[in-house]
Amino acid sequence: MTHDELLKKIDRRSVGASLLDSLAWKSLRAVVELHKPATFIGEIPLPKELSTVLCDYCFRLGYNVKYPCENIWVIEKELG
Ligand SMILES: [Zn+2]
Repeated sequence: MTHDELLKKIDRRSVGASLLDSLAWKSLRAVVELHKPATFIGEIPLPKELSTVLCDYCFRLGYNVKYPCENIWVIEKELG
């Protein structure tokens, strides 16, 4: 599943949710937005073929983690 597909899946699931559930979906979406495929390393744009290699947020934390990182992997698994 691509990053955009995951965001769309979250958006679809949040339609018609109660206030509490909608806050949970919004929070989950914010986490997914952080853990996106990296497009820059510092100020250097990555070539498109490399832009899906690293998780942007995990890389900024100092981890050389491929996208999808474990955070995204777990979210995808739980959403089915
Ligand atoms: Zn990550």
